[in-house]
Amino acid sequence: MTVRVLVATRSEHKLAELRTLLHLPWLELVSLDEAGVEGEAVEDAATFRGNAIIKARFYCGLAGMPTLADDSGVEVDALGGAPGVYTKRYAGEDATDAQNNTKLLTELADLPPERRRARYRCVLAFLDPRSQPVGGRPWVMTRSGTLEGRIASAPRGDGGFGYDPIFEPLTEQPGGRTVGQMTSEEKDRISHRGRAARSMARYLKKRYRGEVRATSRSGAE
Ligand code: IMP
Repeated sequence: MTVRVLVATRSEHKLAELRTLLHLPWLELVSLDEAGVEGEAVEDAATFRGNAIIKARFYCGLAGMPTLADDSGVEVDALGGAPGVYTKRYAGEDATDAQNNTKLLTELADLPPERRRARYRCVLAFLDPRSQPVGGRPWVMTRSGTLEGRIASAPRGDGGFGYDPIFEPLTEQPGGRTVGQMTSEEKDRISHRGRAARSMARYLKKRYRGEVRATSRSGAE
């Protein structure tokens, strides 16, 4: 048996990472484009979790199939947690990654490494429209992950996406490697999305264990 799950993102990078991270033999991840789902969720919650739930409910409502949404971003301590839920549009509505990175570097100009503490945060929200309704609406499962680090003094590396060229995990010395200088395997091992996805994979295995076993016992595909 195959469980088809819609991945509610238009980010090619997030999609590629989630496909690698949620590699379960019976799980088929389908993108919004592959499912022919149009429309954009309005992400107006104050938290990553709130926005992940909004996206899961919105796209599940459109597609009527189990849906996994990712909301993520970067929090910088010296900026009181900004850009937070505004990470994607930090330098403006249609800002490029390079523009966002430049704005953040400018905001932190001249701050020493110890004042550049930051973290990546990722919340994954999963919704199966067949799940038991709570308060009239099907129940959403969330899993989260963080990666602690600091904002580098200048961009280095062209791997990953978003803020990766200016994000140094705390395991690196100041001036050490950014996530943009790591291989995708290294990033997946330590990243906020890697942690959230491994936790979500454990949940999905439990959630669908019965159905997958029952169909393999009955000889169905
Ligand atoms: P969202 O689509 O509202 O969740 O925006 C997420 C934004 O956070 C992305 O556009 C990136 O700028 C940033 N982001 C999230 N995860 C990562 C990551 O793994 N590396 C770098 N930037 C990330």
